[in-house]
Amino acid sequence: MRLFCFLMTCFVFFIKDKAYSNSYMFQKSDVIKTIIIDAGHGGHDSGAPGSKSLEKNISLSIALKLDSLLLKKMNDVQVIMTRSTDTFIDLHERTNMANRANGDLFISIHANSANPTIHKKMVGTKQQTYYRTENGVKKLYTRDVPVYKYWYSKDTTQGSEVYIWSAEKMGDKIDAELNNNDASKYDATPVVNGTEDTVPSISHEENIPIKRILSSITTIRSYAVQSRELADSIEEELHRIGRVNRGTRQRNEKGIWVLQGSAMPSVLVEVGYISNPEEEEYLNSNAGQVAISLAIFKAIQEYKYHQDHKYITQ
Ligand SMILES: [Zn+2]
Repeated sequence: MRLFCFLMTCFVFFIKDKAYSNSYMFQKSDVIKTIIIDAGHGGHDSGAPGSKSLEKNISLSIALKLDSLLLKKMNDVQVIMTRSTDTFIDLHERTNMANRANGDLFISIHANSANPTIHKKMVGTKQQTYYRTENGVKKLYTRDVPVYKYWYSKDTTQGSEVYIWSAEKMGDKIDAELNNNDASKYDATPVVNGTEDTVPSISHEENIPIKRILSSITTIRSYAVQSRELADSIEEELHRIGRVNRGTRQRNEKGIWVLQGSAMPSVLVEVGYISNPEEEEYLNSNAGQVAISLAIFKAIQEYKYHQDHKYITQ
């Protein structure tokens, strides 16, 4: 906790300092060399169920299509899939893979689900008998009680969402960055179950040199900007193909481990709602999967161009 407060204080001063810097230099370099594609869930972790399909299969199909697009059209990058078959990979191993490979970008593919709506309506009354003790004597009474009918209807929420890690969870991302060259720390952490919501903690090294911490804060700050840029671009491209755009979001109440544990710009794309029958149909169709993977590919292409041709402050 002490380290976290210290880091946040450094971060605030760092932003203040940067605000006064105004000279720029043009730089062209291949910044994006390694892209990690993470198909959510897998194996015994099916993810959200639809009426006729499972999230793990949708995320894998779209991830594989995105992989082949990148291989065909962006041959100057190396693509690493956290899984390319229906296997279970725990969340720590996913970020370990990305960090070991020194990934420049982490893209996790998921499908969303909304709980059905429960309806309740009073349809009449019925008589109920009960006992009451009065003056030591147990007596039988009757009373009318309401009778309810319950039924469920599918939630019709639809559209895509792109998650980036919450700024409030910056301490965890700094941990990932500081520990990036020390994979053994990740390996030592316990195996977690396969949901994107699980955020285990990593032990701190309280004596990490300040220079290194400040350098990590600089890096983390640029990850935040870059993740937001890619997330917005993905939403824009998905909107262009007719998807309902539910926006770029940060999840504050619960972190998403793959976003926090990866020491690089990272996004998690919820491509649509498997709980919505129309969307489930679309997400399972070849046309839908091709369109979604192409939209994400175009966003990566645009993002890569900006990163490779960016202005840097002096
Ligand atoms: Zn998921």
